[in-house]
Amino acid sequence: MVNQFSAFNRPAILSLLQTEHFDLLIIGGGITGAGIALDAASRGLKVALVEKNDFAYGTSSRSTKLIHGGLRYLKQLEFGLVKEVGSERAVVHKLAPHLVLPEKMLLPLSEKKGLGYWLTSIGLRIYDFLAGVKPEDQRKMLTRVQTLKHEPLLRKDDIKGGAIYAEYRTDDARLTIEIIKKAFQFGAVITSYCLTEDFVYAEGIISGVRVRDVVSDTAFTIKSTVVVNATGPWVDELRERNKSKKGKKLHLTKGVHIVLPHEKLPVQQAIYFDADDGRMIFAIPRGVVTYVGTTDTTYEGDKDHVLTLPEDAAYLVQAINITFPTAGISVNDIESSWAGLRPLIHEEGKSASELSRKDEIFESPTGLISIAGGKLTGYRKMAERVVDLVSENYFSGKALKACYTKHIKLFGAEFGNAKDVNRYITTIEERLRLLNISDHFGRYLVYNYGKQTDWLIENIANYPDPDRDQALIKTELDFTINQEMVLTPLDFFVRRTGMLYFDRRRLEKYSAVALDLFQKHFAWSDTVLNQQKQDLSLALNECLKFKNK
Ligand code: FAD
Repeated sequence: MVNQFSAFNRPAILSLLQTEHFDLLIIGGGITGAGIALDAASRGLKVALVEKNDFAYGTSSRSTKLIHGGLRYLKQLEFGLVKEVGSERAVVHKLAPHLVLPEKMLLPLSEKKGLGYWLTSIGLRIYDFLAGVKPEDQRKMLTRVQTLKHEPLLRKDDIKGGAIYAEYRTDDARLTIEIIKKAFQFGAVITSYCLTEDFVYAEGIISGVRVRDVVSDTAFTIKSTVVVNATGPWVDELRERNKSKKGKKLHLTKGVHIVLPHEKLPVQQAIYFDADDGRMIFAIPRGVVTYVGTTDTTYEGDKDHVLTLPEDAAYLVQAINITFPTAGISVNDIESSWAGLRPLIHEEGKSASELSRKDEIFESPTGLISIAGGKLTGYRKMAERVVDLVSENYFSGKALKACYTKHIKLFGAEFGNAKDVNRYITTIEERLRLLNISDHFGRYLVYNYGKQTDWLIENIANYPDPDRDQALIKTELDFTINQEMVLTPLDFFVRRTGMLYFDRRRLEKYSAVALDLFQKHFAWSDTVLNQQKQDLSLALNECLKFKNK
């Protein structure tokens, strides 16, 4: 039994994967795989999960980071989808109130494009109704003057009114890792950096997978009664290997976000506005930045190398300048960016943005269960459907619990409600001041780690560095290595702390310190250290590569 999700326990985890026989093996450590692992392990199944890179390396760290009902799906008349994901918002908020935060969204109404005032008013009413939004949070329609008061940066000659409606924002990669940690606590055997290369069959039915530990470059077999393919954009690759890519297939569409210093686009709250071509775009303030996205274009390139292109950046900059003319943004103002792939189900004759976001399950004659499509927001219900299917078809004789993930709080989420989160932030800010650390980290720490921030505050004293922010970074690194399976600087800077996107300056200031600590913790040779340095600087360059073209 391995009881801590620590990088130092990885050899023991790999040994369990090689020796045990599992009920269910999940391929893919994005939000979909994580959700399935938690649901299945909490019901009583013996679960394993393998991820080829870091957890949330794929789409689950590259979304708009909203737990949202999907207003645009209402336009596409997908009432079922709006109802399911709309209702899930409040559930996921309760599971992690520090990580899934209520966010009022401003929807400005333009004279020249988009829906009219009354259609929007009725549409948002239906949206609130389908999602069961509490009366105090239901949509409020705004006059032109009220809308401009909410956001003075908006183009004044074009606004005829607006609306405020309820959504939630999150950090997708943190949500994924917290679910992974919970699944591990329920006994799931989970590892990152373990690539599934092929399937193993017994009498024509899948009986396991052949994987490669990419850290040591060694291959081994994992035995399992059922195998689920939750590899998002890579789903069809594994279906192809299983010779079961028949009928429906994936249609990948790329979505790009750009990050600007908040002072360059000082929006006062999250805004959802129309681009000139009718696409809806979000501008979301987060700490010292505002991020804006997304594009939606068909993608057929390398799935492990999805980049923001000059035309993506130009499209978003143009949309910003039309909507917020005084901002005067140029491509040079962009500080960071990310690009992700939507693993959607292909529909003949439909364009990228018309494709449904609904999830679907494919079962192959050899027993491979693949799940594709869907949303970050709907991960829990998607998992429930997969695990229901697995338990009915394979484990009907086993006394399994019914799905109860609705009641499984994530780590650090011991809060009653959003007000409790704010009170906790205040106490953390006070404690930071006493430790001579800038209190502006309070909000960041609580939104990232919730009540696990107590561990960080208690352990900062391990590092007497005169630069107290440096001591904080080192403590965060200790926490994420020992409790969140961080193996590389990119795991830490991209998917545990989001610094590559949201605080590049802090990353650049402390990357050498972090690399040094990694080398000490993992006894890296200079060759490994140099490789890791190169990977980090490549990632820093790639998110701004479009500037040099
Ligand atoms: P992924 O996160 O891609 O996970 C699949 C994992 O499988 C990857 O980590 C990959 O490394 C691993 N893998 C692949 N092949 C193998 C292999 N052979 N062996 C082992 N592991 C393997 N949804 C929302 O609800 N809200 C939003 O705001 C939102 N915004 C979005 C914005 C954009 C631009 C995009 C692209 C999507 C957005 N979505 C949003 C949708 C949401 O992000 C995705 O539906 C979700 O993240 C998909 O998760 P996943 O686990 O299925 O795939």
